[in-house]
Amino acid sequence: MNVASLGIDAQARIPRVLAIDDSELMHRLLRARLQLEHVDIYCASNGDEGLRMAVELQPDVILLDIDLQGMDGFDVLQQLKDDARTRNIAVIFISATLEMMDRVKCLDLGAIDFVHKPFEMAELKARVRSALRIQQLLRMLSQRAQLDGLTALWNRLYFDQRLVAEVSDAQRHKRTLSLIMCDIDHFKTVNDRYGHPFGDEVLAHFSSILMGGRASDIPCRYGGEEFGVILPNTCAEEAVEVAERFRAAFESHRWRRHSDLVLTASFGVAELASLDAVATPADFLARADAALYNAKRSGRNRVSSIARPMAA
Ligand code: GH3
Ligand code: MG
Ligand code: MG
Repeated sequence: MNVASLGIDAQARIPRVLAIDDSELMHRLLRARLQLEHVDIYCASNGDEGLRMAVELQPDVILLDIDLQGMDGFDVLQQLKDDARTRNIAVIFISATLEMMDRVKCLDLGAIDFVHKPFEMAELKARVRSALRIQQLLRMLSQRAQLDGLTALWNRLYFDQRLVAEVSDAQRHKRTLSLIMCDIDHFKTVNDRYGHPFGDEVLAHFSSILMGGRASDIPCRYGGEEFGVILPNTCAEEAVEVAERFRAAFESHRWRRHSDLVLTASFGVAELASLDAVATPADFLARADAALYNAKRSGRNRVSSIARPMAA
């Protein structure tokens, strides 16, 4: 799978460095010298401004001066680590006065590194590069933990989190949101007759069909031979059409080693707007699951939505 096509390759953008330092001179120096490192540099003059910019800009690295006016660097670091939106940003402390115990405190609070003022620019650049490398590795690890190994779709963990986020977003901004739940028909028989490796091949092919939708759709392996596709900005009629395309593509596929074999899948569609305004992600999922159950019960190989069941 092309991970970047799912929009999760944050490294595609130029790395961002935010400097929180009350010296204008330092801002100018950093801007001038870090420009050549192919990073975008942003500057804040105090802790409040720095915290605000950290949330908005989502920088990769923060260079944090400990001796700030007002809120000091320790407080800023504490607040960055307490907020889920900024927790994973790498923070490098910069200070002229770091005592040994202060350095220990910095690292214990979650800073990744520190630099002593006055510093050699070459050292600061090397430390920024090193922090960026670590950030990239952490990002790759967290992406891996959210991908399914067999199909390279998003896994259940990611599905659950993303469904919560999309439901709350749709409710807040009054946007449409649909969900397709699908399940391969008689899959147990496929495994029993043709073997588990062929079953795995079927799962991978079905996944490739689900990946063929819009770039904004979010196809996930829910578990076993069951899948969920979250469709932002999509109404039920459109989602039914999408599911119908998936259904037809799977049914018409000819399997290389079993040319007479026809495999099918069943689909349940729900639109968030068909539930009441306070519906939870669990209610939404239950509605799509109920539709899938309908599709199974009424003969399989079909798309069903609760409001308007449709035959294939
Ligand atoms: P239905 O039409 O009602 O959905 O019947 P079914 O046989 O598809 O459903 P059932 O839930 O009875 O069987 C699901 C099967 O999926 C059983 C399980 O062994 C198989 N399965 C789950 N995960 C994997 C996997 O990763 N690889 C393979 N090859 N099979 C799997
Ligand atoms: Mg099944
Ligand atoms: Mg199943």
